[in-house]
Amino acid sequence: MYRVTLIPGDGVGPEVTEATTRVLEATGVEFDWDIQNAGEEVYNKEGNPLPDRVLESIKNNKIAIKGPITTPVGTGFRSVNVALRQSLDLFSCLRPCKSYSGARTKYENIDLVIVRENTEDLYAGIEYEKDSEGTKAIIDIVEKISNRTIRHDSGISIKPISVFGTDRIVRFAFEYAKATKRRKVTCVHKANIMKFSDGLFLEVARQVAKDYPDIEFEDKIIDNMCMQLVQKPELYDVLVLPNLYGDIISDLAAGLIGGLGLAPGANIGNECAVFEATHGSAPKYKGLNKVNPLAMMLSGVMMLRHLGETAAAESLDSAITSVIQEGKNVTYDMKPTHDDPTAETTSGVADAIITKMTN
Ligand code: NAD
Repeated sequence: MYRVTLIPGDGVGPEVTEATTRVLEATGVEFDWDIQNAGEEVYNKEGNPLPDRVLESIKNNKIAIKGPITTPVGTGFRSVNVALRQSLDLFSCLRPCKSYSGARTKYENIDLVIVRENTEDLYAGIEYEKDSEGTKAIIDIVEKISNRTIRHDSGISIKPISVFGTDRIVRFAFEYAKATKRRKVTCVHKANIMKFSDGLFLEVARQVAKDYPDIEFEDKIIDNMCMQLVQKPELYDVLVLPNLYGDIISDLAAGLIGGLGLAPGANIGNECAVFEATHGSAPKYKGLNKVNPLAMMLSGVMMLRHLGETAAAESLDSAITSVIQEGKNVTYDMKPTHDDPTAETTSGVADAIITKMTN
């Protein structure tokens, strides 16, 4: 029996989480779910959207699966998702994007793995509000040391990228490539413009690549990478990126395989791992039993593999593959039109997958 922290999240989170725990349990693997809520409702009740009890639970269990959590835009508390990754030092965000036969997409045979650095870059959360003391101090220093000016009505976000942080994420990408017999790692950056942050990322990546002579290494500038992925995604394999580009490219890659409803993920550190879909809380669909649970279920497949439950992972993956291929019990986003009356419900997808696994 595995004790796993379960964070249902908010918006559509609880619905996709319920569907996911049902199919995970149907594999025959036994789970003791340690349910921990986080997010806005918890913030209203406990004054902190990510209370210590949640972090303690994950530290104890070493493994968690979570639904998406809403982040207020512009004001309010900082992202619980980002805070979780930083507090537990889950430095690697692993997001495989693979085509499933039967999924409606403009592309076939996509097989990409995004490895996104999860703790640094513009996501570090070091920000200074317009007119604040911090902003004034930074503007003063920059003007003194660089002889450049920053408009005084600016807000400022800091972009730290370290040798330590880059070395470990690039090594993670190569180790993943080695373990899964992948042929190439592409480092994605904007080192031509941000010479000392992205430039450092590229330089460290080049050094790390020397330790893996059997795996091809190349680099691409982020804007070119976007175009290349749309035009010839088959040329790429494992991509390693700083945090912000990794976030954006993850959604682009999800678009290539048929949307966010099919894009799973994992946040992995040296001590703990938290599995979650790439998508957010899609608040407009909350409570409708309508959205696609497959991204979270596929994150569950990743969790089973992480636990060494390979047979259960294969069984769930093949039931999901077969439901997608048949195209009958799939949600609206996988139907020819979004108002297709035959669209399956979130819980109905779980029922269909359980039937496949148990027959
Ligand atoms: P989103 O991923 O929630 O939704 C964007 C659109 O994608 C939806 O309107 C819907 O059309 C589609 N979509 C998403 N998930 C789907 C699913 N399972 N099935 C079918 N269609 C799906 O992105 P957003 O609207 O930018 O963000 C909403 C909230 O989620 C924000 O507060 C954001 O901060 C948060 N968020 C959380 C996480 C996380 O918890 N890790 C990740 C991304 C965004």
